[in-house]
Amino acid sequence: MIGASSHAGPGFPCAHSGQRRPGLDCGETAPWWAENSKESYAGGIADAVTGLKNWHDSKTGKRHGPKVRFPRRKKKTRDRLRCTCTTGALRVDGSRTVVLPGAGQVRTAENIRPIWRHVRRGTARLLSATIREKAGRWPVSLRLEITAPRQPAPRTSTVGVDVGIGNNLLIVMYPDGTVAEKVPNPRALRESLADIRKANKALARKTEGSPRWWRAKRKLARTQARAANIRSDAIHNATTHLAKTHGRVVIEDLAVRQLIRGLRSHRKSWADAAAGEMRRQLTCKAGWYGSDLRTAGRWYPSSKACSACGHINADLALADRRWACPSCGTVHDRDENAGVNLARLPASQAEAQSDGKTGLARHVAMKRVNHLRKVA
Ligand SMILES: [Zn+2]
Repeated sequence: MIGASSHAGPGFPCAHSGQRRPGLDCGETAPWWAENSKESYAGGIADAVTGLKNWHDSKTGKRHGPKVRFPRRKKKTRDRLRCTCTTGALRVDGSRTVVLPGAGQVRTAENIRPIWRHVRRGTARLLSATIREKAGRWPVSLRLEITAPRQPAPRTSTVGVDVGIGNNLLIVMYPDGTVAEKVPNPRALRESLADIRKANKALARKTEGSPRWWRAKRKLARTQARAANIRSDAIHNATTHLAKTHGRVVIEDLAVRQLIRGLRSHRKSWADAAAGEMRRQLTCKAGWYGSDLRTAGRWYPSSKACSACGHINADLALADRRWACPSCGTVHDRDENAGVNLARLPASQAEAQSDGKTGLARHVAMKRVNHLRKVA
């Protein structure tokens, strides 16, 4: 079966009644049918359908972007265990409890009270839950339709946002040149990056395939997952805060970053990935919270222009973190200056960003709850 996981995983016991379907003898034709929740088969078939459609659309030119290959079979040793449930006993049952088909009541490590409140008030509808295995943990993503999201008060401030490559994740500037906010890169992230290097070295010293090698491999996966979680949390917090507190948010065009950076070191490529993810989240969240997200055009010299006199410093190198304007002598911090220029961008030059999917009144929110624990 293409795209299907035939095994639902040890942490996810799926009970199936073993009911017969027309043309399929559960006992003999497919003895494995009753072992798993029917959702795992249905999900696999749905994924295969999507995969085939994307491949076909790409081949016939209906789909833009990179070419899509023919869907690949899933493999237990290569692909992550994943199952999406859309029917059956599926609900949020408290600020720390979800009920999943087959598994029953499950306690969540994360407090999900905001969702629980919506469910109690009747303003949210649970559409699906996806359970997956990730470095020994079992996160569940809940897909909800929220009919009346809480709206922040209208606000008029405009800010320019530069995604930092040094100590700061974000530099948020007002048009008048003052700093609205500097969001530092989480310290724990730097520490866990060092842990990743250590775990990688430890893995390299083991004999491939040996029990110690597998143990080191799991350790590396856990360390990587931890770094990814810390980073994801920081980005989520930063983008929600931006979308809720400012009327207009101006960011740099992504292509510019890729163009100027050229050959990148590890840290820079990390920052570039963060920039892409932030832009994606801001697009959604600006729609939800009613703020205006704009991107500066590819040719807008946000880094090179002097925010004091407008002189364009064509000689500015990537390594110049601080520079003095050759025309007026003002000394600039590279990131702050870029942020100010973005904040001052005339609306006519900025492209409005919207994914066209989300509106103010309704949005479908994804909430990820980490680390499930079985209750009793
Ligand atoms: Zn100047």
